[in-house]
This record gives sequence, structure tokens and C-alpha cells, in this order.
Amino acid sequence: MRGAVLTRPASIASRPLEIRDTPVPTPAPGQMLLRVRACGVCRTDLHIVEGELKPLRGNVIPGHQIVGERDGTRYGVTWMAGVDGTCEYCRRGEENLCDSPAFTGYTVDGGYAEYAVVRSDFAIPLPPGLDDLETAPLLCAGVIGFRSLRVAGVQRGERVGLFGFGASAHLALPVLRAWGCHVSVSTRGLSHRKLAESLGADWVGSELDRPPTRLDRAVTFAPSGDVVVAALSSLRKGGVVAINAIHLDRIPQFDYDSLLWGERQIRSVTNVTRADARDFLQLASEIGLRPKVTVFKLEQANEALDALRKGRISGAAVLVM
Ligand SMILES: [Zn+2]
Ligand SMILES: [Zn+2]
Repeated sequence: MRGAVLTRPASIASRPLEIRDTPVPTPAPGQMLLRVRACGVCRTDLHIVEGELKPLRGNVIPGHQIVGERDGTRYGVTWMAGVDGTCEYCRRGEENLCDSPAFTGYTVDGGYAEYAVVRSDFAIPLPPGLDDLETAPLLCAGVIGFRSLRVAGVQRGERVGLFGFGASAHLALPVLRAWGCHVSVSTRGLSHRKLAESLGADWVGSELDRPPTRLDRAVTFAPSGDVVVAALSSLRKGGVVAINAIHLDRIPQFDYDSLLWGERQIRSVTNVTRADARDFLQLASEIGLRPKVTVFKLEQANEALDALRKGRISGAAVLVM
């Protein structure tokens, strides 16, 4: 099969992914072989390819938003390639917090290839009505955005603020609209504000602007502690800020009495569960969530990542095999 193999991380400008023929992998018990129909390209892939995420093994095939097929059934595979099922978190039903998880396209080979072997119990059957290309970006940015809404405890009809408006937030907004929520978007950049308006945000402001009414819930998507504090200062008593960012620059000092007192909460969002993925894909199919995509061939995997690095992708990048 053809696959994009990372032998050694390096700057994307040096084309570190080698497109080459490699044996079709053989599934072990509990695994299945998928023919890959499409695979999303994510910023995390760029971090893996460039070595910002420490390499955990050699010769890895990246890609963790796999739409694949086996025996006529289509499956989606996320960043979560597997969990041990035995640690205290798995036993509590919190598999997203597992102590020894496997990650697709990082600790195990991913979907930048014609075939991929995946754990059968981590392949999510796709609901009908979701097209291959449009499903791929839902499997990372979409699912994690959905989990963020859950972590924030969003209820139907509530006032929800999104701080930052990239890949994840712009897929969360239609979900909130489907739930009848009043949505505020605070984001840097005119193009993001325009996109938020066109997707039906009720109020749009700049990065650190405070929405006109107190929020029940807020989700921050920027890697900035200042944004977290801006979100916190927008909450009603009892409100929740969920932080959808793997790293924050820092958390600035803030005033406890006015910002956290009143049972306000700050929570982080870490990975996703299979239930998040299943529930989100079902909802996406019901509400007709259609992300905008830019398609690249597998052979153009380096070009796709380079375009992502340069901010030249309109919507989400997706590889087809
Ligand atoms: Zn991702
Ligand atoms: Zn575990």
C-alpha cells in the first residue's frame, strides 16, 4: 500500500513525510483492517511531524481523523486508538483520562495511508448521511469541541460564550444553535468574526471583549490565560469555563472574590471518550453539520501540512487516498 511515513521529525519545509510503498498491515485479534477513504489533517499532525510532540516511536504514519471502510461498513477513528481498560480512570468510565492510552497516528500508525489497522472497539460505525470528506474533520476538532460543551455542562437554551473561533469552535457553534442556545463569540481577527456571524452567532466581539449579558457557560479555545480570565469575568454565579487547549501560556493572577467566588468553575478538557464521538457524530448527522474542506491527495501530505502551517487552508484539510 501507499503510506506517508515519518522516519524522523523535521521542519515541514524539508518534506519529512516520505510517501512510499509499505506492506499492508495485518490485524491482530481484536483489531480490524480498514481501507482508508479519507483522513483529516490536524495541527497536532504538524506538531508530530515537526517533533514538537516528542517522537514515541520511529517510522510512524500520522493521521488521527480516519474515515475507513470494512465489508461495506464505514467507521470513524479518532485520536484515541485504545485504552488499557483496567486503570482507575477506565474503571470509573473516564477513559479519556486513561493512564496508558494509545494515540492514533502517534503511538500507533494512523490514516495517512491506503489501509490502517485499528482496534475494533475503537472504530465508531458512522451514521448514514455523513459524507466521507465532511466527516473527517469532525473526528478531532468536532468531537473535542463537543466534549468541551459537555465539560462546561451546557443545557439547552443557555447563554454560551465561545472565546476563540478556530476549527473546533466553528463546529461547536451549529451544535449550540441546534440546542437553542444564545451564542456569543469573542475572537481575534475580522475573518473569524465574519465567519461566526455567518454561522449565526447572536453576538460577536473581539478577543477579550465581554459579551453584553452574563454567560451560563464559556469555552476557551485560545492557548491564552488572559482569555480564560476574560471568559471567567463574563460568567454568572455558578457558571463554568471549560478550557479547550492542551497548553496555556500561563494563568495570570486574578481576583478570587469577583471572579471565582459564587461557585464559578474552571475546568480543562482532556481527550475524548468513545461515547463523545458516537453522540457527536449522530448529532452531526441529524443537524446536517457540514464543515468546509480542502482536499489533498495522499501524495500531497507534506503540502497539506505546509499549507496548514502557513494558514492557507480554507476550512479543514482532508487527504484522500
Ligand atoms: Zn487533531
Ligand atoms: Zn485506563
